[in-house]
Amino acid sequence: MRIKLVMLVCSVLAFWFQSSYAQITTPKSPVYSHTDTSKVTTSETEWKKILPAEVFQVARLKGTERPGTSKFETSKEIGTYYCAVCGNPLFKSDTKFDSGCGWPSFYEPISKTSIVYHTDKSLGMVRTEVTCGRCKSHLGHVFDDGPPPTGLRYCINGVVLDFEKAKTAEKSYAKKNKKEAKGGK
Ligand SMILES: [Zn+2]
Repeated sequence: MRIKLVMLVCSVLAFWFQSSYAQITTPKSPVYSHTDTSKVTTSETEWKKILPAEVFQVARLKGTERPGTSKFETSKEIGTYYCAVCGNPLFKSDTKFDSGCGWPSFYEPISKTSIVYHTDKSLGMVRTEVTCGRCKSHLGHVFDDGPPPTGLRYCINGVVLDFEKAKTAEKSYAKKNKKEAKGGK
């Protein structure tokens, strides 16, 4: 009896691990694309079905993840940050800086159209909210206490970011260039 109970607990745990793993690696939303720039018109009801709960909470309900919880906050990897909801390119890793504020921070978006700005008067403050230029998902806020050259700090919830490392081809190209530069000396 006891063994059966242990087996039952094990299988429940295994299922739970599997489903939470599946949630993290859920196939992207049907509109997810790194190249498609057409506006996304998915309804909130649809998003609720498609997105993992923590992404939905931040992206569609303008929530804020707990500070210090994003793996991207201190990441120094080279690559591109995309909107986790629709795949729109948002930030390059070379505009990322360590702000110490608890969330991934950038000083400049990839392009003028990658982000949309809104005045946010919630919580008794006036802030500038930033949303994805393609799917209107809430990303975070922008403040004017960032480093040069822009002086801006885009304070972004890591849960709505998707990261892709710089392509191997680009890396080997950079390596080749470095070698050539060395050889030229
Ligand atoms: Zn988006």
